[in-house]
Amino acid sequence: MERTLVIMKPDALQRNLVGEIISRFERKGLKIIGMKMISIDDLKVEEHYKKYVGKDFFSHLRKFMQSSPVVAMVLEGVEAVSAVRLITGATKGREADAGTIRGDLAMGIQTNILHVSDPAENPKQEIKRFFTEDELFDYKKIDMSYIYSPDELKDEK
Ligand code: ADP
Repeated sequence: MERTLVIMKPDALQRNLVGEIISRFERKGLKIIGMKMISIDDLKVEEHYKKYVGKDFFSHLRKFMQSSPVVAMVLEGVEAVSAVRLITGATKGREADAGTIRGDLAMGIQTNILHVSDPAENPKQEIKRFFTEDELFDYKKIDMSYIYSPDELKDEK
């Protein structure tokens, strides 16, 4: 099964959206295999957003990401990386499709309530940045045969 990282940003906590966001991912059929509240230190912000270090908006982005704790979560599912990006929606909240999490709940570009792994940015490495192996749980979820058909599961562990 594919794994993907989700970070609920400070605006999600401040706007009381954490429960709703978790609920949307759960209802979609994604399996939560890790979750915790953390503060993101300078090193992690720079590593996580390294493509933007040096951009005008980076200092604002850093300040925003450190303005309160965040809730980080690892989700698992068949092709989970692309499925989670699809229901998260486009980066700029006010341009994201209605029905997506950002499209329904966000207006901003920085304040877009979620970080989710990008397939081009090594999701496995990203998960390792925030979670140790013993913070990720391998457990049987009893509804899997109602979420996927057997042929979708046969190549999966
Ligand atoms: P996504 O989060 O949709 O994968 P990116 O990887 O392009 O988007 O950007 C990472 C994060 O950096 C965005 O979620 C947003 O918080 C911030 N960001 C990107 N572009 C801008 C911008 N022009 N101004 C302010 N913040 C930005």
